[in-house]
Amino acid sequence: MTVAYSTQEIKLQGISGSPGICIGKAYLVDQEGVNVIEKYAIEAFDIQNEVNRFKKAVKKAKNALKKIIDQTSEELRQHIRILETHLVLHQDKMLYEKTIETIEKEKINAEWALKKVCSNIKEMFNEIPDPFLKSRIADVIQVADHIMRNLLGANPIDIGGINKRVILVATDLSPADTSQIKLDQVMGFITDRGGRTSHTSIIARTLDIPAVLGLDQVTRLIKNDDILIVDGSSGLVIINPSEETINQYQKQKNRIERQKNIYVRESHLPATTKDGSELIVLGNIELPEEVVSVLDKGGDGIGLFRSEFLYMSRADFPTEEELYDRFKDVIEVMFPKSVTIRTLDINGDKAILNAVQHDEANPALGLRGIRFCLKRQDVFKSQIRAILRAAYYGHVKILFPMISCVEEIIAANNLINECKNELYQEGKPFGEHIDVGIMIEVPSAVIMADMLADFVDFFSIGTNDLIQYTMAIDRTNKSVAYLYQALHPSIIRMLKHIVTVSTDKKIGLCMCGEMAGDPVNLPILIGLGFKELSVNPTSIPVIKSITRQLTRQDTATIVNDALKQKTASDIFQLIKVAYGDTINLS
Ligand code: PEP
Ligand code: MG
Repeated sequence: MTVAYSTQEIKLQGISGSPGICIGKAYLVDQEGVNVIEKYAIEAFDIQNEVNRFKKAVKKAKNALKKIIDQTSEELRQHIRILETHLVLHQDKMLYEKTIETIEKEKINAEWALKKVCSNIKEMFNEIPDPFLKSRIADVIQVADHIMRNLLGANPIDIGGINKRVILVATDLSPADTSQIKLDQVMGFITDRGGRTSHTSIIARTLDIPAVLGLDQVTRLIKNDDILIVDGSSGLVIINPSEETINQYQKQKNRIERQKNIYVRESHLPATTKDGSELIVLGNIELPEEVVSVLDKGGDGIGLFRSEFLYMSRADFPTEEELYDRFKDVIEVMFPKSVTIRTLDINGDKAILNAVQHDEANPALGLRGIRFCLKRQDVFKSQIRAILRAAYYGHVKILFPMISCVEEIIAANNLINECKNELYQEGKPFGEHIDVGIMIEVPSAVIMADMLADFVDFFSIGTNDLIQYTMAIDRTNKSVAYLYQALHPSIIRMLKHIVTVSTDKKIGLCMCGEMAGDPVNLPILIGLGFKELSVNPTSIPVIKSITRQLTRQDTATIVNDALKQKTASDIFQLIKVAYGDTINLS
């Protein structure tokens, strides 16, 4: 983070999460308070007061929970099971009595005692071999978190409950937090942590609100109601801007909106290059509600439905019936356009409460996506059955994430057949001819693409992960964000290989990673021969519009030159010289 002070303004440079400009008041979402905990000694005569302070914080947390439980109707009882478990946990020996004991024995403050007890419990849970039991540590942490908030006097986090137009300022926002944002209340957000392809940024782009991430200590510099300018395109945040700066940004905001409107006006026309080749431009969605945005923006279908978002913000796994209803809604609304449903891709940066592991040292390299699903076949099969049944009502493709070897696709294909047989026996209608594809997002899948192609109907390239795993960088880690280069020669070479394999093997090919939605990359993708891209709904109009200004032939020449370059910035320069004006590069 670079900080430059002028008379009153503070400028902070972070990472661009989602483009656009917003100007408004800050609203601090206190996520972190609970992690900045100080240790201090308590005098012997004050120990009882400290224990009482802890007991009071527990009581307050329990009362808040009881209130929610009491207000919940009978038919929703299954959803509050987890809260009832939490209620019991408040008085749990391991947590409650141990914390009191630690305050008394070590003569330290309640916050520190609770923190210490929690780390011990975490270590204990780590030793448990049963993955399900092990995962229950998440509940203990949530309960402890709630008590800690009361001890510190911090406000509870309730993004859904915000009732004024604000810019959120948070240490970090989880994908689940972000998906609760209501557009009429939240203009944009900025965070201390996170990177461009974290799922939090992806949701911001879907919601079409500006976001800047990776600002380090922004939560310490900003107070509630400070005026902020968030420039999501350049990753700049200005605190307490002068009137002159506000005017300047307001003009820029208006200009961007005018340009956007021009793109949107023509977004329902096909994206045909000047030499007559059509590019199919599909939309990526996280939740069924977003289909409207894909249709509004002129999308040719859904190229990536990240189904894992149906599993977040809840304590249990959705049932087959629930999933079937949600998928069917999307499929029917999109008909006759097609919908590609990606099976559950949890973990990595999309942890859900029910996931097997909360404490993996390297979640991005852990039990993620297909690996989790092949382990929890009950969860996987209920999803496959729901997709197959919903596919009866339209055009559906099924897409498996994180495939790294042939065995995984064989196992997943076997489960599809097993589900089809079951549905047939049960006399339930289902889509019998459904294309099956895999995400190409792990380097081993690129290398084995010719073998994998024999088991699938299409490939969909997930550049968000492919770049992360190829460059060996955590896509949410801002310290290595400079290495996150979509135009890196290694990535361009991989893409060329995949295009060649899919053409030779006569299977479908799409790119659904964020690389596909950034106009800078478009000349390269068209030149490589991509005929189908799936992008964030807000990018559909601009991608279609710029495609109409390109030719396959000229862009193929750029690709030839790009393949001879040594660095991403060499490739960027080639694009800038040839297409700078077309793609609005200044
Ligand atoms: C990707 O990895 O590029 C992708 C589209 O999947 P996700 O961002 O959901 O991991
Ligand atoms: Mg991915």
